[in-house]
Order: sequence, then C-alpha cells, then structure tokens
Amino acid sequence: QGNIVDCNHAATCLLGIGPDQIGRSAELVLPFWGDLVTATGPAGRHCTRLRSADGAVRHASVLLTPIDNGEGAPLGSLIMVHNITQRHEIELALRESNKALQRKLLENEELQRELREQALRDPLTGLRNRRFLESVLPVEVRLAKERDASVSLVFVDIDRFKTINDAHGHVRGDDMLKALGRLIRKKLRDPQSAGRYGGDEFMVVLPDTDLDAAVAWAESLRLLFEPIAAAYNGSIRAATLSAGVASYPEHGGDAADLIHAADVALYDAKNSGRNCVRVGLAKTVLKARSLGTY
Ligand code: GH3
Ligand code: MG
Repeated sequence: QGNIVDCNHAATCLLGIGPDQIGRSAELVLPFWGDLVTATGPAGRHCTRLRSADGAVRHASVLLTPIDNGEGAPLGSLIMVHNITQRHEIELALRESNKALQRKLLENEELQRELREQALRDPLTGLRNRRFLESVLPVEVRLAKERDASVSLVFVDIDRFKTINDAHGHVRGDDMLKALGRLIRKKLRDPQSAGRYGGDEFMVVLPDTDLDAAVAWAESLRLLFEPIAAAYNGSIRAATLSAGVASYPEHGGDAADLIHAADVALYDAKNSGRNCVRVGLAKTVLKARSLGTY
C-alpha cells in the first residue's frame, strides 16, 4: 500500500525515519520516493541527492527491490539506501584532476610542437634552418626521380657582408639578412623550402624546377636584391649577392651531389667577381676531371 512498515537504525540516522513515521506513506516520508519510482519503476537502482537527518546534503544510491510472498504475489518493497557521498566526492575530484591533466597534456603537446618548430626555424629571418633544409632536399630529389621531374638547389650569399657589418654595425647587418629573407619568401610558391644555411648564406630548394628556370629565378633574385640592399646601405656602395645553382638530374642523383655542385657554383660566382649567378659543373664533367680527361 506504499506505507513504511519498518526501518533499521542506519535508516533512522541517515533519513531521520523515527517510530512516528512507521505506518505512514513512503511518498510523504522519503523525499526521493517520487524520483526513485519514476527512474526505476518497481525495481532498480537510482542515485540521488538528499538532505539527511543531520541537515547535511548527501549523495545516496537507492536500491528498490520488490518482495513477494514466495508464490509470486507482491507483498511490498525493500528500499536500501547507501550513503555514497565520499565515493561521489572522490569521483568528482578525480574527474577534476583528469580534466586538469588533459589541459596539461594539451599544453605540453603545444609546447613540444613549438619547440620542434623552433628547432627547425632560423629565428632571425623566420625562414627554415639548415637542419630542416637538409632533411627536405633528399625527399624532393626522391620525389623528382619518382615523377621523372627536376628539382633545383640555389645557394645565395651576400657579397662582402663582413664589410657591411663593419661599416654599419651588426644590427643593420641583421636588417639586411631579414630583408633578403623576406625577398626570398616573396619569390617562392612554398616558403618552407627556403632557409638560412648559416651566416649570410641562404639555401633554396625549388621543386619541379629545371636548371634554366632555377638560374632565371636566382638571376631575378639578384636583380631585386640590389635596390633593397641599397636602402639599408645609405651612402656606401649597394650590397649585392652571388648565387650557385645545381639541379637534378644534371648535377647528380642525390642531395649530397646537389649540395656539392651548388657550393662549387657559388664559389665560382665569388671568384668571377661576385654579383653573378653560376651553375655547377655537370656530374659527367666532374667525373672526367677526376679522371684527368677534362
Ligand atoms: P663574400 O663575398 O666572400 O661572401 O664575403 P663576406 O664578407 O660576405 O664573407 P662571408 O660570407 O664569409 O662572411 C659572412 C659574414 O657574415 C661573417 C659574419 O661576420 C657575418 N654574419 C654571420 N652571421 C651573421 C648574423 O647573424 N648577423 C650579422 N649581422 N652578421 C652575420
Ligand atoms: Mg658573404
């Protein structure tokens, strides 16, 4: 009939059910009764918040079990209430510390990403650094081979940069390196393929670019740089740059071949009076030279 017929001592302590409530309707005595029946039907478990006899708010797990007379006829129900406040608080604290951990993990991932990025970037020009470029070049050469395409490498070096530093100071020198970095970036489809190789030397990888196109690219960079450098140089003679160019397949089949050929070409440009672009010697010529037949 929905009336309370008995309760134990713990129920008295937790729910404040005293002798005067025995025989009264559970619906009136138990604050969670309505929710319990709605949530579970005639049987089941339900978690709820309740104000216990001492006035404190507790979390409780309430289990409703039907009782029959042994032959299937319903007699009533047994209600078991477990005080799960402590467990609930521990779960809450755990959830909170889990969230904090997740936040920390995300922060760490972001930090690691930034560190990885910094390790591969030149802080002065914002371009890539030598380490990154030396890892990019072998990949580009392999791709060029697979697609039967070309890839070119350009080494760019400011002429007599030491004298610019000496005449205008290191800070103005830095400005000129940054200006060259900006110019290179502007002239590229993919700015990730250019970087500072070291000092005043820049390395540019030009995927899908044959030797003629790479020479034209370097030549146009050389021409564009002169007026820009003049703006930094004031009254002194404008700065210029020299460049060495090498390409796959003409200068070899791997990254080391191209680096060597572009380096030799840059050296050649410096020896030819600077302010010019030179092409590396083709692999066949280098081989013939080492055999003494050229
Ligand atoms: P060359 O025409 O033969 O290239 O002559 P150069 O004076 O440019 O000689 P080199 O390329 O060997 O010298 C590079 C100079 O660049 C040496 C160093 O003082 C300067 N340098 C290297 N790194 C930096 C930098 O980060 N900032 C500035 N301002 N100068 C640098
Ligand atoms: Mg130089």
